[in-house]
Amino acid sequence: MNASKDWIPALAALLPEGRVVTAEADVDRLSKDFYWYSPILERQLRDKRGDVAVQPRTLDEIKQVARFASARAVPLTVRGAGTGNYGQCIPLEGGILLDLGAMDRVLEISEGGVATCEPGARLAVIETAARKVGWELRCYPSTYQKASVGGFLAGGSGGIGSISHGVLRDNQTVRWIRLLTMEPEPREVLLEGKDVLKALHAWGTTGILIEVGLTLAPRIDWAQMAVAFPDFNSCFQFTESVALTGTWRKRLVTCFEWPIPGWFAPLQKWVPGGEALAFFEIADPQLEEFSAAALAGGGRPVFSSPFQEPRRGAQLSDYTWNHTTLWAKKGEPTLTYLQCGFDPHKVREQIASLRTKFGDELLMHFEFLKADGVILPGALPIVRFTTEARLQEMIDFCGTIGVSVANPHINYLEGSGRWRSDDSKLVAKREFDPQGLMNPGKMIGFKPSTLARPIPA
Ligand SMILES: Cc1cc2nc3c(=O)[nH]c(=O)nc-3n(C[C@H](O)[C@H](O)[C@H](O)COP(=O)(O)OP(=O)(O)OC[C@H]3O[C@@H](n4cnc5c(N)ncnc54)[C@H](O)[C@@H]3O)c2cc1C
Repeated sequence: MNASKDWIPALAALLPEGRVVTAEADVDRLSKDFYWYSPILERQLRDKRGDVAVQPRTLDEIKQVARFASARAVPLTVRGAGTGNYGQCIPLEGGILLDLGAMDRVLEISEGGVATCEPGARLAVIETAARKVGWELRCYPSTYQKASVGGFLAGGSGGIGSISHGVLRDNQTVRWIRLLTMEPEPREVLLEGKDVLKALHAWGTTGILIEVGLTLAPRIDWAQMAVAFPDFNSCFQFTESVALTGTWRKRLVTCFEWPIPGWFAPLQKWVPGGEALAFFEIADPQLEEFSAAALAGGGRPVFSSPFQEPRRGAQLSDYTWNHTTLWAKKGEPTLTYLQCGFDPHKVREQIASLRTKFGDELLMHFEFLKADGVILPGALPIVRFTTEARLQEMIDFCGTIGVSVANPHINYLEGSGRWRSDDSKLVAKREFDPQGLMNPGKMIGFKPSTLARPIPA
């Protein structure tokens, strides 16, 4: 791979003025994401950066950059909005940062409910456009205001909406992906059906997402409600029952043990001290009935907001999924987190085992979701970090009691807990990026093909 930087002027000469960023502070900023969520990655990645950032505005410009990188064997790492939380878009071997934030158009919302988007389109913008014509996103991350659709598909997994519609890989939610390969003559490849897995959650190691088609859901007017419970067990019990029953139309089903709600600084005017809290998004016409059910379940509604558009004031989803960790870290910077999958049939025993073993070093935060058609208690527990060894002990212990961990303290795909046993991403990388130039170091099982040689400049 080309480790020198003497190629930068030639790259700049290829593109219209203003597309190439070389100022150190700007390249530094564009090289980073929320990797500092992890004290381990913070140490490993703080010095990593690209050599130059490129901000194309057209597909032709992306192709020029890809052709150049392939010909000169320069590493290339794609950036959406940089909200990934394990250093996914941090270049480990320098090279070009391809910032697609300016390619942000929603090209079409079809009558049948498919959104065609450029990769940099913000999820909130897609949601707004879809709602105007009677549709909405099936699922989106809590970072939807900033995050790009390309980054969500390449780096995320699911979020708000997943309780009803599953995660990104389910139900053809990603209808198709148009991918640009990293070859001497980059090809546009259309991935459909199961083939989307070649690029989904591949951290931009198998090609550049240049256009995506997302299946939408019919629009629903969502209301929000927060319910307090005197203890975590009754909070979990009610939240789980909401997740499992078909009675409620829902978009968000979340529960937190105390003291997590104490870190939601802007909500302290109504967050009751010392109590567990559950957050819901429920179809607006069901709000009154839902409030009565919460009372009957031992809870006390402490905040409710009927449907309103445009959204105003506190959005409960801004405190859920991985935003919970953000608020906790604002309160206590040394806190970190895990990403866990509990067994729906043993979840209470598993919680009890973790409590016995780790006490309040591990604080419970559950996000219920559907995956492969099954409702699951997903969790992003907050961890009181002491040492790397202790964190590893927690991860290992989870394994012994049947709690899966998608380890967010690891910066390569195979270790992140979402590697597929069919190796489809490795096969795709061999085909679409034979020199191993895309986000190098993030798919450690890949060895560049000896047949793939850079074309002399
Ligand atoms: C506070 C917070 C809350 C979060 N909540 C959620 C959540 O609810 N659900 C969830 O799934 N995730 C969540 N995340 C993780 C992250 O926000 C999502 O994965 C997000 O969608 C990433 O989008 P992005 O545009 O910021 O991508 P980036 O961080 O820029 O990139 C993510 C990965 O995708 C690659 N990539 C980006 N664009 C392309 C492209 N066009 N082609 C190829 N590869 C590309 C990058 O190289 C990188 O590997 C959260 C993170 C934070 C910090």
